[in-house]
Amino acid sequence: MAMTDVEQELTSRYHSALRQIVEACHRADRDPVEVSLLPVSKNHPASMVAHLMELGPRQFGENRVQEMAGKAAELGSGPSWVLIGHLQRNKVAQACSVMSELQSLDSIRLAQALERHLGTVGRCLPVLVEVNTSGEATKSGVDPDQVMDFTAQLRACPHLEVQGLMTVAHPDPQAADQGFARLHDLRDRLRDRDGAQWQRLSMGMTHDFASAIAHGSTCVRLGTAIFGPRAIPAMR
Ligand SMILES: *Cc1c(COP(=O)(O)O)cnc(C)c1O
Repeated sequence: MAMTDVEQELTSRYHSALRQIVEACHRADRDPVEVSLLPVSKNHPASMVAHLMELGPRQFGENRVQEMAGKAAELGSGPSWVLIGHLQRNKVAQACSVMSELQSLDSIRLAQALERHLGTVGRCLPVLVEVNTSGEATKSGVDPDQVMDFTAQLRACPHLEVQGLMTVAHPDPQAADQGFARLHDLRDRLRDRDGAQWQRLSMGMTHDFASAIAHGSTCVRLGTAIFGPRAIPAMR
């Protein structure tokens, strides 16, 4: 079966992204198996997700519950879904019925709402704590100075499997660099305090993933690099 232009473009963007991740790992003297790629499919149709699945990926990032649930309904049990955008407490039940992981835990009240719901349905959810490393008021995430306290409070939430930290960096490359370094440092402090459960660092997007990898990222979240430009600017 011949590939359409859209599929061909997707294929070449995907392979080029993988290549660039490997190159960034080599430059940083890291083993590429330490860095996973989370394709971010927001603002792209479910058909693109289906095409990308033919190339291997099974897990996809979305930043809105409604859109994630829509694609999940369209595509059935094949893909799994990672929520990377702000989650409102009134959407916890709907989100939990779809997502396999939450990378954007950003408040104690959200943690409590998740804990209550997960306790009721009897399952655990892998989560990353989102940290606002950029200082921009428009971005969500826990203040870096609050992270040690915030994460200590999560001990009261046994249904949250807390695995690491996530950030959306400042658009300025130098500020982003500092943000990545800060996140890495926080992760190390958490490890010193709590141990190996703090493994993961989700940082790096299309424009800054090489720098994030140099600073120890274990998961880069790529939208544009893989799916191309978004028709409608995505909401955060
Ligand atoms: C949209 C989005 C991404 C991907 O952004 P690109 O710049 O297109 O790679 C990654 N993380 C989050 C939280 C996002 O909202």
